[in-house]
Amino acid sequence: MTDSPIKVAVLGSTGSIGTNTLEVIGASAGRLQAVALSTYRRVTEAVRQACQFHPRRLVVADPTYNSTQNDFSFLPPGTDVVTGPQALIDVATDPEVDVVVAAIVGSAGLQSTWAALEAGKTVALANKETLVAAGPLATELAADRGATILPVDSEHSALFQALQAGRREDVQRVVLTASGGPFRQFSKEQLSHVTVDQALAHPTWRMGRKITVDSATMMNKALEIIEARWLFQLQADQIDVVIHPQSVVHSMVEYVDGSVVAQLSPPDMKLPIQYALTFPRRWPGPAARMDWSQPHRMEFEPPDFDRFPALALGLEVARMGGTSGAVLNAANESAVACFLQSQLAFHDIVPACRAVLEHHDFEAHPSLERVLAIDRWARQEISKHASA
Ligand code: NAD
Ligand code: MG
Repeated sequence: MTDSPIKVAVLGSTGSIGTNTLEVIGASAGRLQAVALSTYRRVTEAVRQACQFHPRRLVVADPTYNSTQNDFSFLPPGTDVVTGPQALIDVATDPEVDVVVAAIVGSAGLQSTWAALEAGKTVALANKETLVAAGPLATELAADRGATILPVDSEHSALFQALQAGRREDVQRVVLTASGGPFRQFSKEQLSHVTVDQALAHPTWRMGRKITVDSATMMNKALEIIEARWLFQLQADQIDVVIHPQSVVHSMVEYVDGSVVAQLSPPDMKLPIQYALTFPRRWPGPAARMDWSQPHRMEFEPPDFDRFPALALGLEVARMGGTSGAVLNAANESAVACFLQSQLAFHDIVPACRAVLEHHDFEAHPSLERVLAIDRWARQEISKHASA
């Protein structure tokens, strides 16, 4: 019996995760099929992708986009161009789609991810911001609708794989690995002079700008603590972080008997992406492989909570739950945007997030509407910390 192709909607196909996803699809010998692609406004790039992958729909999500701006005569005959945020939701809920890859960056990805979960889809989730902002709501929704969330984030994919080695009730704790980013060995004094170019030069991963800055502040690890909390229903004190500069061990699960199960592979997002697309199967694929004919050094060291205060913030928010995730997520997103526009210093990103978090109106069980409202509020609050 030959399996029919797995039909994939790639939301955010022009980004770093999106292009890696298309490489995985391109190498699958037709077993994976891209039926929808989306971009915010990188239309030329998206059209080029459509010419290669022949999706049924190409979404340009920017609500201000006017389709007369581009020449679509090169598009394959079966590809329709659709525009605006509703088009993303239509694609995410299309009955033809088997797996939705949620690879839009930031809380802009929340509504389409939400729609996919509501429609009971399998969601390959790169957009960690959805779980940070609305973790309990999203996991409850998935359970109600029979949707499945499969992690794409490399640490969470590693945990997901390592958790298959034992029973959930026998898990002592999980250990998230972190490369430490470009400033792992910077003093506090050096951290106070960091430039945008320095923050955008990650030592082991090539990623979009927002997550690259998050890795430099270690806010990315804070968001991942919260992501793990909701994805795997852990307590905050069951989640540890260890610095591992080589980014080969992607995370570990420690069981009650002291056995630690880790997942290893070179730093290449194509592996966790493919695993989310093919789960529970594994296929040969285009991801880089370990070369055991070469020597490898793997180091592990505890993180420095003093130089990287984002980590404590992540643990606090994982403990607090409620509206705190939505506030931290939005405050950080806005603070990073201000930093990239030179309106906020690098070392002020985390303190500004803490300040906004500390004076928000906490609610333990917010609705989605409340989450979206507090997201808007937190962004405005951050603008008070930025210089014009
Ligand atoms: P990116 O900036 O490279 O790409 C983002 C994509 O989202 C692009 O296709 C862009 O057109 C689209 N987009 C941006 N704003 C949008 C909006 N307002 N509406 C609709 N579409 C919009 O980002 P990335 O590095 O690929 O990251 C994507 C997500 O995956 C993030 O949530 C990130 O945290 C997560 N992630 C990324 C990596 C990585 O290696 N890049 C690893 C783990 C997790
Ligand atoms: Mg990660």
